[in-house]
Amino acid sequence: MTVPLMDPHSQYAAVREQIARAIGDVIDSGRFILGPRVAEVERVFAEQVGTAHGIGVANGTDALLIALRALGVGPGDEVICPSFTFYATAESIAAVGAVPVFADIEDETYCLDPAAVEAAITPRTRAVMPVHLFGHPAAMSALREICVKHDLALLEDAAQAYGASLDGVRCGALGDAATFSFFPTKNLPCFGDGGLITTPSAEVDRMCRVLRFHGSEDKRTFTHVGYNSRLDELQAAILLELRPHVDAWNDGRIAVAARYEELGLGEHVVLPAVAAGARHVYHLYIVRTQERERLVDGLTEAGIGNMVYYSTPLHRQPVFEHLGYPEGALPVTERCARECVALPMSPTLGEAAQREVVDAVTALSPART
Ligand SMILES: *Cc1c(COP(=O)(O)O)cnc(C)c1O
Repeated sequence: MTVPLMDPHSQYAAVREQIARAIGDVIDSGRFILGPRVAEVERVFAEQVGTAHGIGVANGTDALLIALRALGVGPGDEVICPSFTFYATAESIAAVGAVPVFADIEDETYCLDPAAVEAAITPRTRAVMPVHLFGHPAAMSALREICVKHDLALLEDAAQAYGASLDGVRCGALGDAATFSFFPTKNLPCFGDGGLITTPSAEVDRMCRVLRFHGSEDKRTFTHVGYNSRLDELQAAILLELRPHVDAWNDGRIAVAARYEELGLGEHVVLPAVAAGARHVYHLYIVRTQERERLVDGLTEAGIGNMVYYSTPLHRQPVFEHLGYPEGALPVTERCARECVALPMSPTLGEAAQREVVDAVTALSPART
């Protein structure tokens, strides 16, 4: 028996018929771009997140690009972000002509350390972009305070955190704008690429709509150099069928995480921490060990899914070499890059499979002292 790292397909079984019907309805309607289903996604997703506006776009990377520009970020600006994240976080900053400034993370949550953010502020800083990494909300109240004090925009990269929350407020409603990805492995997926921007601001909403449609408000007069970046009507129809299930799926992930703990996984590796007031939705189930290489090799041999996220932090990537971060510049980030590994996680992962994972880890690890 093998245990897959993730199993998004298992979620769809119960809704397959409704989705097939919804796809058929779109075909029959003949409306494929910015039709009623995209408008419906924008309305109901913003409502679920708990913010005023939603803007459907082509993917989570474009969502970041468009949100950054709508917040006024451009050439000459600096944006503070983590280095321990997926590349798109910093790529989007560079793509709008700004400079990513990498700040270190907290040792427990793997999210931006507010003290490191404050230390990285310069006169050119324009925005702070925390990532709710692996499904755990960043320390948003401290980050909000810093942004207010220094007059900076606060943009949440919530690609990995649909349904996560902090003190009862959902990720996506904690900043000046936020971005989601519906890539097929995220907690709320579609069947291709898709993304969403959320914002409480009518002005940011308006600008995002202009930018996603070639820099035009009326589709005849072009006021900005924008993008062709829309959420497809077909993907919107799929998202409308899947969204009602996301909270239950996330509850399933939380139950799987609790069961790993009950089964004694924490005797061998460092388990994910959950900050006070946080709902962690375990987009990835990340554990830490100084014996990572041995663990990865052994698990792979035993047929247990595993994957290292992120082995080369962004400040050490070739594309950002010119920014001049030496090795050791971000010590917590670099330690996490050496020690973190993802273990199997899905809402439907069963107890027998989890026992298999824990048994394999136990066989490969000395007990923690
Ligand atoms: C997936 C992801 C993105 C990009 O989303 P796409 O839809 O793949 O473009 C951005 N940031 C983070 C942290 C992600 O995990």
